[in-house]
Amino acid sequence: MAWHLHGFPGGIHPARMNKSPAVDNPIESLPLPPHLILPLHQHSGEPAIPVVEVGQKVRRGQLIAKAAPGRSAAVHAPANGEISFIGFHACPNDSGMHEQCIGICTDEEGELDEDEFVDDISLTEEEMRQRIAMAGIVGLGGAGFPTEKKLTRHGTKYLIINAAECEPYISCDDRLMRERAPQIVEGIHILARLLQAEKILFAIEDNKPEALKEIALACFETDIEVVVIPTKYPSGAQKQLVQNLLGIEVPSGQHSTSLGIVMYNVGTCYAVSRAIAHSEPLISRIVTVTGDAVQRPGNYEVLIGTPIEYLLQHAGVHSDKLRRVVMGGPIMGIAINNLGAPVTKLTNCLIASGPGELDEDLRARECIRCGDCVEACPASLLPQQLYWHIKTGAYERAENLHLDDCIECGACAYVCPSHIPLVQYYRHGKSHLWLRQQERQKAEHAKQRFEARQARLEREKEEKALRHKRAAEARLAAAQASEARATETQPAAKAEPDKPVIEQHNDRMSEVLAAVERARKKKTDPDAENKS
Ligand code: SF4
Ligand code: SF4
Repeated sequence: MAWHLHGFPGGIHPARMNKSPAVDNPIESLPLPPHLILPLHQHSGEPAIPVVEVGQKVRRGQLIAKAAPGRSAAVHAPANGEISFIGFHACPNDSGMHEQCIGICTDEEGELDEDEFVDDISLTEEEMRQRIAMAGIVGLGGAGFPTEKKLTRHGTKYLIINAAECEPYISCDDRLMRERAPQIVEGIHILARLLQAEKILFAIEDNKPEALKEIALACFETDIEVVVIPTKYPSGAQKQLVQNLLGIEVPSGQHSTSLGIVMYNVGTCYAVSRAIAHSEPLISRIVTVTGDAVQRPGNYEVLIGTPIEYLLQHAGVHSDKLRRVVMGGPIMGIAINNLGAPVTKLTNCLIASGPGELDEDLRARECIRCGDCVEACPASLLPQQLYWHIKTGAYERAENLHLDDCIECGACAYVCPSHIPLVQYYRHGKSHLWLRQQERQKAEHAKQRFEARQARLEREKEEKALRHKRAAEARLAAAQASEARATETQPAAKAEPDKPVIEQHNDRMSEVLAAVERARKKKTDPDAENKS
């Protein structure tokens, strides 16, 4: 029985998907580049920490940067060679800023230390988790979330495998499914076992019939349910896919994992299979190279760290035709200004566009309030209102309209007849709100520190007063003790402590008079004392 789909609001159907001709050619391995650049931050979370030195020889698969504490992922040498530098280098990011990288001068591709097949049945769950963590695998669908960090969640109701690949041009997952479906399914079984998933759904768009055939064959007589979804952008976005498959709207500010739903991309499943079965860390990935300026479009198996210009040269880019290079799809991708930047774990596609291919030269005009953006928004937001509020600096109003729920899919900008770069406004608005939140946190932190200082000073004052009081009491007690000791050394006072003073005086007077009498008698009769 076919799985019941629930659909999701909005979305678009781009006129040209442009998946061919890249998807029609088998995956091709790229020759070893003379040098590799490995960014330490190719994932969400903290950058990895280098564990090698400049001049050190490294082997293929060797750990060169370990995962930082918390959320992070390790980085490995993709080939044999020597560490040439550790420092800042151009990277494929939005800002164009340089990032910390490790450079390797390669000498040969090399062999992995343990490239023998290991049956996952022979490993414990803990051993498998460790292998996945050690392999530095991250979500290859674009988010870059360290894979092992999602594996700790037990009680998983649904494990969803995302094979939607809904943006135009990109075809690396499609080609991977056509050629390596059994390994992908192997990876899915490993993930399902570690998560103790109750139900496994494999979601694939209906514009990939060859891939669907291979996956259906590999899933035959397994507990994986293959679900075909209509081709629509952005059906591969996490919240939209959950809504489409399960009819569940992930609440604002929450992640699907909090609802017992874990999602992995097909490339990630393949990497998991390689890590478990062959102890292979994540050192390569499939990259779609396409666009009108490319002579030999296709999907290339590329070592992580390969300079983009090396890959484009190999694919035969016409420099006279080339207008710009975009990493990712034409809707959500980012422009690459420095072709010396490397391919990273998250590089799924490079579009080398020719003249007039991407709408880079269209100038933005005024908003005509057509409402097309509202209809296209899959997150049920009001893109036009968000745009106005951010443009006029009314960030709080944009926040109240759930700017945070914008997944930056770009569907609104795609349909906008005025060519307004709406997503850029949303990113600006989000970063402004983020900065304001940071400032609030800083102010709150400073307030807490001030209050803590005041409380400490007050406490110290009270402690000081208490110390003085105790010292005074101790001095008084010592004085009294000394007086008591002095009194103990006076026998008369001790013998008759309770006798009235006047009686004590009379007694002493009697003793004195008796002494005087004895002295007088002794003087008049020296023998009187002996006689008496
Ligand atoms: S689609 Fe563009 S022009 Fe139309 S309402 Fe939205 S922002 Fe304005
Ligand atoms: S970019 Fe944001 S506002 Fe625009 S359609 Fe996507 S989710 Fe909606």
